[in-house]
Amino acid sequence: MGNSQREQLYERLETLARELGACDIGFVALEEGEAGLKNAISLVVPLSDVVVSEIDNGPTHSYFHHYRTVNALLDHIMLRLGLLLQKEGWRYLPIAASQSINQPGRPPFSGRFSHKQAAVAAGLGDIGQSNLFLHRVYGPAVRLGTVLTDLPLPPPADRLHLCTGCGACRRACPAGAIEGVMWQPGRAREELFDAAACSAHMKKAYQHIGRGAVCGICMRVCPVGAGTESGGEDGR
Ligand code: SF4
Ligand code: SF4
Repeated sequence: MGNSQREQLYERLETLARELGACDIGFVALEEGEAGLKNAISLVVPLSDVVVSEIDNGPTHSYFHHYRTVNALLDHIMLRLGLLLQKEGWRYLPIAASQSINQPGRPPFSGRFSHKQAAVAAGLGDIGQSNLFLHRVYGPAVRLGTVLTDLPLPPPADRLHLCTGCGACRRACPAGAIEGVMWQPGRAREELFDAAACSAHMKKAYQHIGRGAVCGICMRVCPVGAGTESGGEDGR
């Protein structure tokens, strides 16, 4: 496949993703992947301003429903992009929009592949002290998807610096799960964020909403992306 054919396929993938509801898309060649596929197509779908603004001292029923619906849309977009890749002779692996794989040898509360890692490498945003992905326009009020493929893709983009270090997420977290440490490439999640404390708090305090699968407070209070038409991984 020549360069111009490849560019055309990128365009077709982007057009399809945007038609189906993605607000942003990135293409990046990574150093690590899954199933031998190291190139990532990163997808972003924004959350509803109204739903996010209703999160106050905890999640709402509307947020839980919206969270699941947007994840389902991302899974659908990933499948549609994958089918197009496959039709054009490329392999693909869609990474579930929200799925923790608790297996020996893997960090708890993490998926098969990090959506955030792909999205940051693709230049779509940064990671905040909250350990949430911060999109360059919408801030943390987005959900992510990733399609891994063997289609050749461009090298990683320069890192964006979007977290202001304001500490609003740390102060607002009812579980004390946010350490207040700035993210850096290669920094372990555990240095920023106690996933077990976050999960335990959600299970205890919000059992009446999706059996404690979501919270959203740290997303709601973050100023990054505020003032846009719309403002997490890990059920947050
Ligand atoms: S989602 Fe987790 S880390 Fe964020 S505010 Fe809620 S309990 Fe804290
Ligand atoms: S609330 Fe402040 S410290 Fe936390 S992620 Fe957002 S910008 Fe960074």
